[in-house]
Amino acid sequence: MKIRLTVFALLLATTSFSQSIHRCATVNAIQLRDAETPGYASAVNRTFEKAKEIATRKETNAGVVYQVPVVVHIVYNSPEENIPNGLVYAQIARLNRDYRKMNADTTDTRTEFKPVAADAEIEFYLAGTDPDGNPTGGITRTQTSRADFAPDFFGNGLDDVKQSSLEGVDSWDTDNYLNIWVCDLVGGNPLFQLFGFAYPPATAPNWPAGSAATSPELEGVVIHYEVFGDGNPLATGALSVSDKGRTAVHEIGHYLGLRHIWGDANVFLGEDGCTVDDGIDDTPNAADNAAQVCNFNKNTCTDTPTDVPDMIENYMDYAQDQCMNLFTQGQVDIMRSMLETARTELVDGSVAPSSIDERVSADQIAVFPNPAKDVVQIQLPTEIEVENILLLDINGRTIRFFPINRFIQSTVVNLDVPAGSYLLQLQNAEGLVNKRVVVY
Ligand code: ZN
Ligand code: CA
Repeated sequence: MKIRLTVFALLLATTSFSQSIHRCATVNAIQLRDAETPGYASAVNRTFEKAKEIATRKETNAGVVYQVPVVVHIVYNSPEENIPNGLVYAQIARLNRDYRKMNADTTDTRTEFKPVAADAEIEFYLAGTDPDGNPTGGITRTQTSRADFAPDFFGNGLDDVKQSSLEGVDSWDTDNYLNIWVCDLVGGNPLFQLFGFAYPPATAPNWPAGSAATSPELEGVVIHYEVFGDGNPLATGALSVSDKGRTAVHEIGHYLGLRHIWGDANVFLGEDGCTVDDGIDDTPNAADNAAQVCNFNKNTCTDTPTDVPDMIENYMDYAQDQCMNLFTQGQVDIMRSMLETARTELVDGSVAPSSIDERVSADQIAVFPNPAKDVVQIQLPTEIEVENILLLDINGRTIRFFPINRFIQSTVVNLDVPAGSYLLQLQNAEGLVNKRVVVY
């Protein structure tokens, strides 16, 4: 308890905890776990330094796209918290746009930052097999008797949602799946509005045994249900600044080893916000976070040789979703070297992607003609109940929406879109399948 109180005093002294909306508790989660397992925080730091060394020593495997299998655990009490599959799909699409620099708002990146904005070449997909090898859509749904999973005044309970013994849901093997828990993290406490948190990697395989203190079953990301997904209709009022699914983009950045862009200096302990940084060279120093606003005049530190504003459009700051649009090359190098050292099994391709039917793989679904002029036929190898067919553009935006809601083996859709490359997406309760289609 003494340790808890000491940690809590530190938490209270940080600026982020004094705000009513506390977007992300990753730093606090690290401090809390360090109190429980001394050495955890330094293990996180050592992993970061190792990743940085690797990132600077060699060129990253540019051109190799890493694909991360995801399981989303929806842990709900009220029906409202049991968010629909569509929001999960929208969240995965948002991750893929932002981590591939295919987001439409890259055009909003300010001129001075365009040269450092980078494609992370990391993609995410819903898992098609569970740890026992059974088919899955990559989404689990569990009703809990817990009204919420908000941590208490001392920060206790942050990890409860990850444990079935505490009315949460146990992780799937965290070496092979990115586990994302979606639940009520806010509860009724207006002073502690938590949108999400994640644990960064705390070990790399080339370290001496015992150098890291981790709880592998707790690895992963937790997101508050009202800000999960792109365009969540529950993201209203104070939460409307987080309506584009970028809380998950931010938290997965932590999961892949990134720190907050401003460096989390504790000014109440005398740290200088302009010297404590995120360990990445191409993100400008900032004294504090963007505080849930889009202030393009914010410039808290003088950079040399050329001063630039604070990079509020970085996903690892705290601006509003609508003005975030980039990772830098330095951040990309860290995330990729983390995948190459600390999270290697995650991207070894051992987990198949989800499909819309356990009997059918994506490549058994035919779309023809392709390239097409306007009308395409979709042919399935057997009758399958399909809910919707969507046509997405290269930015992931839904251009056409065809409700189906019946068993089909074949159907014809009229695309009626300008020439270009698109994705046809078949959705049902089991999952989704994407098929690329070119229109001429
Ligand atoms: Zn954060
Ligand atoms: Ca500056």
